[in-house]
Amino acid sequence: MAYRTVNPYTNEVVKEYPNATSDEIEAALTAGHHLFKQWEKETPESRADQLHEIAALFRQNEDELAKTMVVDMGKLYREAKGEVELCAMIADYFAEHGAALLAPTAIKTRATGKAQLQKHPLGILMMVEPWNFPMYQIMRVFAPNFMVGNPMILKHASNTPGSAVAFENIVKKSSAPNPSLQNLFLSYDQVADIIGDSRVQGVALTGSERGGRSVAKAAGENLKKNTMELGGTDAFVVLDDADIDQVADIAWRARLYNAGQVCTSSKRFIVSANLYDAFLEKLKANFSKVKPGDPMDSQTTLAPMNSKRAKEKLQSQVDEAIQAGAKVYYGNEKIDLPGQFFEPTILTNIDKQNPAYAEEMFGPVAQVYKVNSDQEAIDLANDSDLGLGGIVFSGDPKRGTQVASQIETGMVFVNNFMVSLPELPFGGVKNSGYGREMSSLGLNAFVNEQLIVTA
Ligand code: NAP
Repeated sequence: MAYRTVNPYTNEVVKEYPNATSDEIEAALTAGHHLFKQWEKETPESRADQLHEIAALFRQNEDELAKTMVVDMGKLYREAKGEVELCAMIADYFAEHGAALLAPTAIKTRATGKAQLQKHPLGILMMVEPWNFPMYQIMRVFAPNFMVGNPMILKHASNTPGSAVAFENIVKKSSAPNPSLQNLFLSYDQVADIIGDSRVQGVALTGSERGGRSVAKAAGENLKKNTMELGGTDAFVVLDDADIDQVADIAWRARLYNAGQVCTSSKRFIVSANLYDAFLEKLKANFSKVKPGDPMDSQTTLAPMNSKRAKEKLQSQVDEAIQAGAKVYYGNEKIDLPGQFFEPTILTNIDKQNPAYAEEMFGPVAQVYKVNSDQEAIDLANDSDLGLGGIVFSGDPKRGTQVASQIETGMVFVNNFMVSLPELPFGGVKNSGYGREMSSLGLNAFVNEQLIVTA
């Protein structure tokens, strides 16, 4: 069976789930379409209380939901609890602001009569989500589209089925009409078939470039609107006037949070020459302090990676980088624990020919580069096919902001850790994808903005 939970700390196979049958898929499409027709006649206001209730249920069930994520993909329990709270916050935000953001707007026109733009739901949305934040990723799409009135079908990652079921159960427990969200254990072909169905009118994927290309192809062939939230090789730029202690304190967390498995983790540290040696020393000191262990233990600071496959892939990327001339400044030693742990590793001396220069390393490996000017830092940051996020540090916030605005990504934070909040748009450019989730931009991603002109 393709869908199964294997606890990455104990390697125990916890549960397996059978794939959806054709009859189950047809039933899901029929029920989803039926709800769409009902929601079309209602207003977003009528759904706000239900979404607040879903937020409350997330908070009430925090412990159980967090433990489900820990078992599914190994994240630290306290980070999992933070994820549950973030889900509740996103649901509350769209419940509170959704209706106002979806209200009709007047347009000044030379046409005879009054012109207005009304916002209507489109139909069923197919969402395809990854394992790294197994509940937050769903909520980023679910909460805004629940307010819009688009029923959703979810295909979650094959290694986090427990989280998919738990999320769906919370929605079912609330007074939201069924089936607002239907989780189905689907094959890639079944996803493509669903995208081709006329009752489905939108596709949202978060995942790798490879997955994105293939799902976007199915969406394109069927002329279905889609958003793609893909990978990142985010730069962490340290300008020559940065406060090195502040930088050091944030750098290790920006790389190691969620065992380094975050699309917007800082992956390329681009450091001004005058701070380079001090930066490396401090990063090494912080990396060497982390404590791998049981993700449920509050003393643990390094989680296992989500799967054996992910760990092996990262190891082969590091091996290839070293073969191509990279130096291991710290780490890359085996951790003597049964779980899928990868020692935090710092690589230097990566030149343009090294495969690591262009690759996303989705785990606790930092690449560190030395630069001699702001322009060199910007050019290096932009020398990537990906363009998701980034961080810039400078003693002068204005200079930091000027550099940030020259970085070709969808999001840059200056002098701080990158965070995701419901009011802030999330998304990238280049091969990191297109479209935005969260904020009013995410809310409007799958909306029929219908022009009505009344003479
Ligand atoms: P992935 O392999 O693309 O998987 C993501 C999801 O897509 C999973 O549900 C996967 O299903 C599904 N999928 C993949 N190929 C598919 C296809 N041809 N048809 C239908 N579904 C398909 O991604 P991953 O490597 O596990 O996840 C990590 C990647 O996601 C990284 O590159 C990371 O940067 C990116 N990411 C981006 C964001 C963002 O917001 N931009 C956020 C988080 C992660 P299976 O599990 O069954 O293969």
